[in-house]
Amino acid sequence: MITSAQYSSNTNGNPSVTLPQIETMVTNANHYGRQFAMAFTKGSVTYITDNAWFDLPNAAALFNMFSHTSNVGGLEVYCVNSFWDGDLGKSYRHNPPFIHQRDGIAVVANAPPHALIHEILHACGMEDISDIAPDGTELDNRLVNVVDAGSANWSGGTGTGYYPADLTHRTLVRRLLMYAAGNVNGADFPLGRVRGYGTSSSLNPTDFIPRLVSADFLLIRNPQH
Ligand SMILES: [Zn+2]
Repeated sequence: MITSAQYSSNTNGNPSVTLPQIETMVTNANHYGRQFAMAFTKGSVTYITDNAWFDLPNAAALFNMFSHTSNVGGLEVYCVNSFWDGDLGKSYRHNPPFIHQRDGIAVVANAPPHALIHEILHACGMEDISDIAPDGTELDNRLVNVVDAGSANWSGGTGTGYYPADLTHRTLVRRLLMYAAGNVNGADFPLGRVRGYGTSSSLNPTDFIPRLVSADFLLIRNPQH
């Protein structure tokens, strides 16, 4: 898969990222991608001077920026300085994934190493998983179990599973690459779906249901914008 990067600067000439940082982002995405046999290469890199695309003030600016380029033969990745709400990465993808002018991925320069792969996996059809529902309901402290973790992710039978016996399901959710809030130590990519809440942009976000965070749903292996 080819990613085409755009990065911005403010009108004072401060770039959101450096070219070596873009190289590192792609290298990190490849480290994670090895778990599910996907590889990424950097395509063209474009540099844009625009204050509104450096510190993004709102969603309208994001869509305006995403519309800058489309049909690049891979994914458009925008590197910015900050988002209005403090997020580390954002993506937009029509569902079903028609290539649409407004589709794109954006990450902030100081995002943790897995931020780009998290957004790329959204472009592959994955959804977020959370331990807190949009209405504030929090996952309880139940221990890891086959029903919530999913049988595809389980081995060994009762009491002999792969997971430490004192691991909570909440900790498991927070270890996943698709964990919505991000976790610098979380890079798990499960074989099967895992139960959790969604986010405000998810389907049925307040339901504690199996989420599309796993290899069994990796149907789009060559995503494009
Ligand atoms: Zn996400």
